Parts: sequence; structure tokens; C-alpha cells
Amino acid sequence: HADIAMYRAKQSGRDNYQFYTPAMNAQALERLRIEGDLRIALERNEFLLHYQPKINLRSGRIVGMEALIRWNHPELGMVSPARFISLAEETGLILPIGSWVIRTACEQVRAWQEAGLGNMRVSVNLSVRQFVQKDLVSSIAKVLQETGLDADFLELELTESLVMTDVEHAIGILRELKDLGVHLSIDDFGTGYSSLSYLKKFPIDVLKIDKSFVRDITLDADDAAITVSIISLAHSLKLHVIAEGVETEEQLSYLRQHGCDEMQGYLFSPPVPPERFVELLQEKNDTQVTTLEFSAR
Ligand code: C2E
Ligand code: MG
Ligand code: MG
Ligand code: MG
Repeated sequence: HADIAMYRAKQSGRDNYQFYTPAMNAQALERLRIEGDLRIALERNEFLLHYQPKINLRSGRIVGMEALIRWNHPELGMVSPARFISLAEETGLILPIGSWVIRTACEQVRAWQEAGLGNMRVSVNLSVRQFVQKDLVSSIAKVLQETGLDADFLELELTESLVMTDVEHAIGILRELKDLGVHLSIDDFGTGYSSLSYLKKFPIDVLKIDKSFVRDITLDADDAAITVSIISLAHSLKLHVIAEGVETEEQLSYLRQHGCDEMQGYLFSPPVPPERFVELLQEKNDTQVTTLEFSAR
């Protein structure tokens, strides 16, 4: 066990010796195990996508959804992306996994459209490794063509650090993606480093206000100020703005009052399996929603 722990220390680039407690050994071991299992998870069909609705704050209707990956591990059960996405990034496994996510999301939404459930847009999260991959644009074009999904119904969620690392290069790729017709959003906006002068150069469509600001919006004056500023910044730049992590009616009414366009959060629904998403669509979108009464059930 000590050997394994030492190996991890070297791998992570720290050339110093460290003292490992049994708890740290267990952590290192779990990491190694997850890494090994991650390599075979795709072929074993252990990944699935959950979908979280995005609600238009004026109509109260579901206008789209975010696809979020889940890993149904044979022994560990449902493993959250927080536990394996960064590992998938480090190992490069994010490339095949990410391709699977995009294809599956496009297929799913196309199937829903064909079933007459509406023309909603699906967003998928893109990681750095995927973004810098040479054939990103052509591979997305291929998926759209093969699944028959119109590019207008696909959105890619990027982070600030992803687009800010090599700005000129990023702008080039974003332009190519826009030329394809897909929508682009900046996820977790406000938590990273963005240069406002670059922001206006990026051909993006949406800012997603990070849930850390939304959480205390009605309690903390600074978070409220930041949120209102992001809404106004987005609108000045002619972008749409969506708040993530909306959990309470108070947060919702604050956001609506300040002109936020859309919201996503447990208040309306957590990410759910496809079957449940269809039920949500039938419950919420089929009835004419006149009041904006949101509740999870
Ligand atoms: P994200 O893209 O910012 O996704 C939003 C996260 O917030 C999701 O966590 C979602 O379940 C959670 N969430 C939604 N509503 C609420 C709420 O009201 N309150 C709180 N506290 N949380 C809420 P999840 O699904 O665990 O995903 C975590 C992160 O993992 C995502 O953050 C994203 O960065 C990454 N991720 C998920 N799926 C993928 C994927 O397919 N590819 C890549 N590259 N990253 C992914
Ligand atoms: Mg996201
Ligand atoms: Mg986010
Ligand atoms: Mg994120």
C-alpha cells in the first residue's frame, strides 16, 4: 500500500517524500481503482446521462436541458462526476467518454423531437482536453449529421479557464463551432478569470451564473450584487443568462425580478433519468402554465 501511495505522490509531480496515513492510503487506492475501472466503463456500458430541465422564467416552461453524466459502477453504485471527471481529464479518458456524452445526448434529444415532445435544446459540458482536440469541430459535425439533430438544438458549455487559456486559439474554435450552428455558453460564470474585453470577442450565446452566487442571493448583499451585475453584463452583450442551483422560491423571485432569462435547479427538478424527464415534460409543458408555481413534484 505504501508503494502505491508513493507512486501517486511522484505521479502528481511532487518530488518530495510524504508521510501517508492509512486514510490517505485508502484514498490513493480508491483513486487507482477508479482509474482502472474507468478504462473499462465505456465498453461495459456503465455510463448514463441524466437531464436537468432549464426553465424560461417568463413562460415557466421547460425550454431545454443539461445532460449530466452518471457512472453506474458495479460495486460502488452511482458515482458522481465530481469523483471521476478530473481523473478522466488527467488520463485522457475524457476524450472517448466525452464523445459518448455528445452522441448520446444528441440521439436522445432527436428521439424526443421525433416523438413530438418539443424542440428543446440540450447542452453538454465540454472539458479542456476535448476543446483542444484537433478534430473537435469535425467530430461534432459528424455526430449532428449521423443523428439528424439540427445544430440549433445543441449547446456546448465551456468554462472561463477553458476559453481564457489561449484566447486567440479559443476564438478560432468558437467561431468554427458557431459556423456549424451550435450554441455556446460559459458555465460557472464568475468563478474563474474572465477578461471582459475578451468576453465581447467570444462568439458565445449564454452566461450561466454559478450556483455559488445564487445560493446566498437573498442573504448576502455581495452575492446579490454580483448576480445582478452578471445579468446586466449578459444583456449588454446581447447574451442570454441562466442561473444554476436555484433551490428556493425566494431565489427564483429575486432572479425573475432582476430579469434573469432562465433557471436550472432543484426547486424545479434535479437532473433525472430520461424516462422521468419525459414525465416532467408532460406534467409541466402540457398544462398551460399561467402562473409560475414551481415545485419539485
Ligand atoms: P456543472 O456543469 O456546473 O453542472 C451543474 C451541477 O450542479 C450538476 O452537478 C447538478 O446536478 C448540480 N445542481 C443542479 N441543480 C442544483 C441545485 O439546485 N443545487 C445544487 N447544490 N446543485 C445543483 P453534477 O451532475 O454532479 O455535475 C458536476 C460537474 O461535473 C458539472 O458541473 C460539470 O462540470 C461536470 N460534468 C458533469 N457531466 C459532465 C460531462 O458529461 N462532461 C464533462 N466534461 N463534465 C461533466
Ligand atoms: Mg454545466
Ligand atoms: Mg455550472
Ligand atoms: Mg462545472
